[in-house]
Amino acid sequence: MTFNNRTALVTGAGRGIGKAIAETLARQGVTVICVSKSADSCGAAAASIVAAGGKAKALAVDVADGAAIAKAAEQLLGEFPVIDILVNNAGITRDGLLFRMSEDDWDSVIQTNLTSCFHWTKHIARPMARARWGRIINIASVSGIMGNAGQANYSAAKAGMIGLTKTLAREFASRNVTSNAVAPGFIKTDMTTEFVNNAEVSAKILETVPLKRFGEAADIANMTAFLCSEEAGYITGQVFTVDGGMTM
Ligand code: NAP
Repeated sequence: MTFNNRTALVTGAGRGIGKAIAETLARQGVTVICVSKSADSCGAAAASIVAAGGKAKALAVDVADGAAIAKAAEQLLGEFPVIDILVNNAGITRDGLLFRMSEDDWDSVIQTNLTSCFHWTKHIARPMARARWGRIINIASVSGIMGNAGQANYSAAKAGMIGLTKTLAREFASRNVTSNAVAPGFIKTDMTTEFVNNAEVSAKILETVPLKRFGEAADIANMTAFLCSEEAGYITGQVFTVDGGMTM
């Protein structure tokens, strides 16, 4: 894969899938801006990339706060004239059946997973479009494709990310900026520890996964890195499921 010393911003890069994406891109010579909510988390991720010989910077931003994103983007675009690759990966779950779901649970999941993509893209994609090269990757979920009982907020946010991905693909195609989504199935991270470590629940989940195992963060990072590469330049507006065959 070819990366030509690009610069990427990865949200939720402090842990799990986002950290694996940041590390994978950094190994390919990409300069990575690691964003997460806590300064400790993105700071440690960036430090480990630098210790391994890569180029990285950390920035703590609450992606549920549009004003904080605007301020962070202004600061970053002062330092990096163009951010070539945007990976919207930060996400949370607040699960519960619809009748028991509070408005706060609904709002915080929509803000963090979906509205954050709107804000980051608005700020980062303008210089990308001017430069006539860019990659936007939104980390959605199979929940946004199939729905999932107990995840009305999360599946709505992830389906929204898929719609946004396709619209951005159409709006930015003439500027040579591609936009794609990756939809993970069950991946072993802090987000899923509770299920993975519960033998009964995990056996039930694995009944629905033809490959009969949970995915690793690297499985998502490898697909994302490919979509960020030069070689993926003719792919846009697509959703790639990486789910062990769950949704085939
Ligand atoms: P994770 O291990 O819980 O990590 C989430 C990351 O997002 C953390 O770095 C966290 O920051 C960051 N984050 C959360 N809220 C934020 C906020 N308000 N502002 C800034 N950063 C915030 O989750 P993951 O499993 O890696 O999930 C990554 C993405 O993949 C999410 O969008 C998730 O919905 C999606 N996904 C995951 C799975 C799965 O099975 N794991 C399946 C489908 C989709 P801190 O480190 O500072 O807390």
